Order: sequence, then C-alpha cells, then structure tokens
Amino acid sequence: MEWETVIGLEIHAQLATRSKIFSGSSTAFGAGANTQANLVDLGYPGVLPVLNHEAVRMAVRFGLAVAATVARRSVFARKNYFYPDLPKGYQISQYELPVVQSGSLDILLEDGSGKTVGITRAHLEEDAGKSLHEDFHGLSGIDLNRAGTPLLEIVSEPDMRSAKEAVAYMKKIHTLVRYLEICDGNMQEGSFRCDANVSVRPKGQKEFGTRAEIKNLNSFRFVERAINYEVERQVDLIEGGGKVVQETRLYDPDRGETRSMRSKEEANDYRYFPDPDLLPLVIDEALIESVRATLPELPDEKAARLVAEHGLSAYDAGVLTSSRELAAYYEAVVQDLGGQHKLAANWVMGELSGALTRDGLDITQSRVAAPALAQLVARIGDNTISGKIAKEVFEAMWTEGSGADEIIDARGLRQITDTSSIEKAIDEVMAGNPKQLADYRSGKDKLFGFFVGQVMKATQGKANPAQLNELLKRKLSG
Ligand code: ADP
Ligand code: MG
Repeated sequence: MEWETVIGLEIHAQLATRSKIFSGSSTAFGAGANTQANLVDLGYPGVLPVLNHEAVRMAVRFGLAVAATVARRSVFARKNYFYPDLPKGYQISQYELPVVQSGSLDILLEDGSGKTVGITRAHLEEDAGKSLHEDFHGLSGIDLNRAGTPLLEIVSEPDMRSAKEAVAYMKKIHTLVRYLEICDGNMQEGSFRCDANVSVRPKGQKEFGTRAEIKNLNSFRFVERAINYEVERQVDLIEGGGKVVQETRLYDPDRGETRSMRSKEEANDYRYFPDPDLLPLVIDEALIESVRATLPELPDEKAARLVAEHGLSAYDAGVLTSSRELAAYYEAVVQDLGGQHKLAANWVMGELSGALTRDGLDITQSRVAAPALAQLVARIGDNTISGKIAKEVFEAMWTEGSGADEIIDARGLRQITDTSSIEKAIDEVMAGNPKQLADYRSGKDKLFGFFVGQVMKATQGKANPAQLNELLKRKLSG
C-alpha cells in the first residue's frame, strides 16, 4: 500500500513589540525570573487588559504580506484551561473571528518545483508563562516573564505532503516575519516555533486520516525529523491493524521519537467565549493603508527582480533573498561591481556562506565586508587572478582582514597573462618531459591534463587558465 502524508502547521511567532500585548511590562528576553510580570500578567482579579496597538499593526503587516483578508472587525476570546504557568485560568486569543483570514504563500522546493500553501488564518494571542523543571528537585518553578508576550499564531491549510515541504514552508514564514520586522525569528529563545499536525492516508483516498499534533518544535531540523518519525509510526500502526488516535504528542530530540502527551482536546473543551474585558478589534481602511505604505520589498518581489534584472536563476535568487541581510549584502557587492551578477552571487552563496557556516557567524558578522568581496570579485573579472587563486586570497582576507589587492600584491599572486612568459614555461615543461610529450603526440590525449598541471606548478598556479589552454594545445601539437 502506498501512503500519502498530510501536514498542516500552526506557527507561533512572538511579535517584536517592546511591551506585552495587554500590559506595559517589557518583553525583553533573559531577565531574572518574574521581574517582567505586572499585575495584569499575573492575572490579578479586577485588572483590565489594554491592547497594544503595535501588535495589531504587526498582524496587519503579516496579513498584507500573505495577500490575506484583514478583518475589519475581529474578536478576542478567552480560551479556558488550567496550567500552573497560566494564572488567570484562561488565555486571551482569537477564535471565531481572527484578525487575518485566508491568505497564501508560495514556497520553492530544493528540486526547483514550487507550490502554494494556503494560510487559513493568523490570530493574535498572548503567550503563557514558563514552567521550569531543571534546578528544582521534584518541584517546578514558574517564570511569568513570558506571560502576555504577543504571539501571532499562523495556521496553514493541510497542504503540505512531506516533511521537506513543511520545512520549506516554515522557513519561508521565518524569512517573511523577519523581512517584515515583526518577529526576531530567534528559535533558540523560542520566538519562533511550531506545532505540526500530521496524518497519513492511502494514496488516492480523498478523506484525510486522523492526525496527531506534535507540539512545540523549535528548530527546522526537529520539524523534519519529528514529521518523518511520526509518518513512519502512523503507517506501521495502521499496517499492523491498529488505528491512529487524535492526540497531542511531544518530540524528544535525544531519542528522535514522538511520545503521546495527552489525548486531543476539542475546541469545546476550552469553553471559548468573547472576552468581556476587551472591545472587538476594529481596523479601518486608513490603518491598513498606513501599514501598507511601510511594507518593505518582500522576498518574492526581491527574488523576481534578481531574476529579471540580474539574470540569476530562480534558485539562486531564492537563496540570496532568504534573509533581508543576505540580500542586502549581495546587492551591496554588485552595486560596487556595477555588474558581474552571477559571479558575485556564486561567491556570496559559495565561499562566503561556507566561511560563515564554518565559523558559526551570520551575514551581519561577516569578516569580509561587501566592498571587500566586491574588490576580490573584480580582480577575477579583470583577470588579475584566477578563480582558484581567488579562493586562497579570500581565505587570507577572512583570517587576516586585509584587502584583496593588498594580499595579491604581498603574495605576488597576480595572474600571468603575458603570452611570452606562459610560452616560456610551456617550453620548459615540454623539454623536461620528453617521454610524456612523445606519448601525447602518439595519441595519448589524456596527458593534456598532465601538462596543464606541470605548467601551473611551474607558474605557482598563476598562468591565466584560458591562455594556458590555448597556447599549450598549439605547442603540444607541434
Ligand atoms: P486545532 O485548533 O484543534 O489544532 P484546526 O482544525 O484548527 O485544529 O487545525 C489545526 C491544524 O491542523 C491546521 O494547520 C490544519 O491544516 C491541520 N490539520 C487539520 N486536519 C489535518 C489532518 N487530517 N492532517 C494533517 N493536518 C491537519
Ligand atoms: Mg492546534
């Protein structure tokens, strides 16, 4: 039996407001426990929530960016449940009428194919506090600093068909919220996390299978692994005659498996009702237009421009626009160069990205700034150095911090483009290898590479490769 995987994601993005969604407490990460929780966050009776205008603007920004409907009127509801890190006994969320409704997002997969994923809704809600289990023997600590932090919960349609698609979608949302500057995207700090809903069905079947919801995944790698594990578990279960039960599961990264946490609650278990402390959220045209006016160039628009104006492939454009900072770096390089787009793109995606990954840095911490990389690429373009020597120069730039020209001069790396010097080196190599020369001339074409290598060795890799090829071909054939 062939199985098809069905996935829908609920992504929680912490909004980058300075204060909380219904109180004036700071949202800064890393403060001492319970130092950023006031009476509203602590759920004292009689206090009243006041909606943070900036959180609303951020939700609208997101809605516009995914071509969704921004609801002119939406409603905050109480989602009732008991948990030690939720002192009020309810979470303020949006239920029947969310602020963002029915949008969509295009994703690009590694194999170059694309797909549109539906976004059912995005709603504003408050985060809960945190229960701390380490450092407390047999007890739990409660830190309410996070209580009341604004969240945008972005709910997708069950449109993904593999773990890879789910990751591509999540990455795209991650890219988007950072472009929009509505979320810092810091997954280690929990600012961006998701619940993955996973089910399987026999290929060709129309109805969806029963889903399990894997909670709180905070890395792309965990999302991929958790989904793949869960798909296998469900298929094994069904093929063994069992039935998937609708439940909430937890992913254990150390064991690489998902475990049952609790049976799935239904919406009516939460006794949702409109929060009587908050008026309906009314958004007028003027607010929407003022937000629209401040939208930056979005990743898809930017990528399309790099394809149309720079002649890059859709894949390269997708990689370069995956973060606003990376795109800005690339654009600064080509601006200095006044062209050479493909070469610049290759260097940014190749050597530079490799060095950043190796040293655990992000693009804003690059040891080689954009103008410096532009200088290096210019020296390849004007034939001062070959691409191969350029890699050596780049390494030196990265570790020593000097400029390309400085290193090329100090190390005498300038490419030899003078025909007579190259010819001289070829003559010497031919004279020093009579046997190989005779073999070549009697038909052993493969020895051409040997001669290239010898001449390059004799010139310390500095002979211009194209010239060398041409001259060598001519001389070898006599
Ligand atoms: P809840 O709020 O109870 O978690 P929703 O119906 O709002 O449930 O769905 C939450 C998420 O689950 C959505 O992203 C949706 O696309 C996804 N989903 C719903 N049904 C399935 C299914 N059968 N398989 C996989 N994902 C599903
Ligand atoms: Mg859910």
